Amino acid sequence: MQKKKVVLTFPYKLINQPITYHLIKDYDLKVNILRARINPREEGRLMIEIGGEEKSLEKGMNYLKELGVEVQSLAQDIRWLDEKCTHCTVCIPICPTEAIILDRNQMIVSFDKDKCIGCGLCVPACPYKAVEILF
Ligand code: SF4
Ligand code: SF4
Repeated sequence: MQKKKVVLTFPYKLINQPITYHLIKDYDLKVNILRARINPREEGRLMIEIGGEEKSLEKGMNYLKELGVEVQSLAQDIRWLDEKCTHCTVCIPICPTEAIILDRNQMIVSFDKDKCIGCGLCVPACPYKAVEILF
């Protein structure tokens, strides 16, 4: 089984469509919604983790694209600004997935985007605005 985290952007006309239901029921995919931003008068955005067999994932992604849903990888929406990070470690205990890692020998903080679920907890916690979520 493959898993990936993606951000779906769907236009206003698709907001009421049961898109995640179809991904689960018709394409046999597992969908976990990580974040949602839906305004009835604007485009909607969903950050999801999606998993399934390779072929099913491919078909599910094609279904989304044919509908007019934009699909992009989560990594494009989370930005770790290395040049702003002072390695103060404030964010380390806050991150629920250990996506922010401390090298205790060198006291250097780094970011593992594959572990990040885009929860956003580190954004207000960072005194130096070193993490941005474009969501
Ligand atoms: S957004 Fe959440 S999961 Fe990602 S690094 Fe920040 S606290 Fe960790
Ligand atoms: S709180 Fe901000 S400055 Fe401090 S280690 Fe985390 S990202 Fe870097």
